[in-house]
Amino acid sequence: MAKGDRLLDVVDLSTHFRTEEGILRAVDRVSFHLDQGETLGIVGESGCGKSITAKSVMNLVPQPRGSIVGGKVLYHGNNGTVDITSYHHQSREMRKIRGNEISMIFQEPMTSLNPVFTIGDQLMEAIMLHQRLGRAQARQRAAEMLARVKISNPEQRLDRYPHEFSGGMRQRAMIAMALSCNPQILIADEPTTALDVTVEAQILNLMQDLQDEMGMAIIMITHDLGVIAGMADRVLVMYAGWGVERATTEQVFYTPKHPYATALLQSIPKIGVRKRLTSIPGSVPDLNNVEGGWCYFAPRCAEAMDICRQKEPPTFDDDEGHTVKCWLWDKQQTGIKAG
Ligand code: SF4
Repeated sequence: MAKGDRLLDVVDLSTHFRTEEGILRAVDRVSFHLDQGETLGIVGESGCGKSITAKSVMNLVPQPRGSIVGGKVLYHGNNGTVDITSYHHQSREMRKIRGNEISMIFQEPMTSLNPVFTIGDQLMEAIMLHQRLGRAQARQRAAEMLARVKISNPEQRLDRYPHEFSGGMRQRAMIAMALSCNPQILIADEPTTALDVTVEAQILNLMQDLQDEMGMAIIMITHDLGVIAGMADRVLVMYAGWGVERATTEQVFYTPKHPYATALLQSIPKIGVRKRLTSIPGSVPDLNNVEGGWCYFAPRCAEAMDICRQKEPPTFDDDEGHTVKCWLWDKQQTGIKAG
């Protein structure tokens, strides 16, 4: 695989959950792609479907209530193209891809690391499972991986328990575990939310260095546009389970098209600019109780038109890969914004 080769095509992915109140459409016909060596940022407020999108790509949707009900996750791996949604989540094929070719790091390492096993045991278990190495070789590889994520005295640190590591070191250990099998894709779900800003910067720099060194593609899930600006090549903005805007990072930051993306950008502070920050009124609709057939952002949108409350907006594409799901970009509705 060379830089720029297509690795992933997610097409009209829908993931639903059965709840007491009915069907919750956590991810609703979301599409995006990912190329070798690039970083895609997925951004949006809590509850907009970012994490469930990532878990769907890993075929790790919480069971038994959740399931992928539509669309495809086409993974173009070394052995050809497979549709991940066609595999059972516990199948041998899926276990081979998960961890080996697509890895994930989670928000809070303490919930992912087992407190009763040493860091070394947990790293070695992942290595032995996926790479079929013996204990001694796995220990050597585990120490190499800790050194690679810049943990000093890696040999000794292998015998420490998670509570003996600081928050930043635990997240480094999680990154080491996720990268120990040289995956093609690393999915990072809010990997720095629980860390202070200095450690956050160190972890993000480390991820970029490892990406340059190992050539993997990264899906970075975050609510923090600062992280996106610093790391992502392209961005998917999600709202209420929809992908509402997809473009390069530059396009989203300098010429955002969706009113939600614009509002998100207006709500971040800028150094040297003294102005009142704008907040987005209201909150994401309860996806249990929404009936389709309108724009879910309409109650919060300053530019809402009649049609927004009557019909779901389609996705418009400007032919340069900048897509937006908003009626403002339909010439027939406005004649102004659409180009
Ligand atoms: Fe606002 Fe209408 Fe666009 Fe929805 S479709 S974001 S309500 S302008």
